Amino acid sequence: MTARAPSPFIIVAIDGGAGTGKSSSATLLCERFHLLHVDTGSFYRAATAEFLRLGVAASDIAAVRGAIGALQLGTRLNGRDAQMEIGGRVVPEAEIRSPAVNAGVSLFAALPEVRAALLDYQRGLAGFARARGFRGVVLGGRDIGSVIFPDADFRFFLHVDEAVAEERRARQGERDSIKERNRLDSSRKTAPLVCPPGATYIDTTRLTLAEVVGKMAAPIAARLGAAA
Ligand code: C5P
Repeated sequence: MTARAPSPFIIVAIDGGAGTGKSSSATLLCERFHLLHVDTGSFYRAATAEFLRLGVAASDIAAVRGAIGALQLGTRLNGRDAQMEIGGRVVPEAEIRSPAVNAGVSLFAALPEVRAALLDYQRGLAGFARARGFRGVVLGGRDIGSVIFPDADFRFFLHVDEAVAEERRARQGERDSIKERNRLDSSRKTAPLVCPPGATYIDTTRLTLAEVVGKMAAPIAARLGAAA
């Protein structure tokens, strides 16, 4: 009898605009295959909350640079979620989803200085997942398959009609500027929101969450030798 090869460690990139269902589908994939969930949007949100707390404006680059220099980033594991700590503190959900952060996050995320500060941090989470026995990592964001992990094992790009995305957010009881964020994220110079060549494009507008997850789970299950 030949021994079964150990299953590989996989990196899954899920990019897409606001309200496309990246986090919900990533959470289900992580449960199914024991993967670490990394919601990189929450990192940009936490950094934005910190800048706002310090009274730093996105237009004041010198102040942004100063604030970045003082950011002490760490990681806390919460179930299957990697949470970013700033100075040993995880910024609470209520703060990172506040109307002020919704309105400001894309302005800070467009700055190359801010993106550079989070680049190695995000890449390092693959090692973090490996060291804690996960079978891989799922990162959701805007530039994961294009910049952070262009060689990821799986790269998905989710799309949704913006009107449907706004309805989804309203049902979650959140006030969000989805159209404006997508416009800013798609038009910025550094790491814009794009479907990178070779990524699997999924239009989720008329699909249920289970259908979206099913499309992503099938190839992952095949790679891991697991049931989809
Ligand atoms: O994913 P979420 O909508 O929470 O992301 C909030 C904002 O963070 C985005 O609108 C975008 O400006 C920024 N972001 C980014 N790159 C990522 C993830 C999020 O620029 N990889």
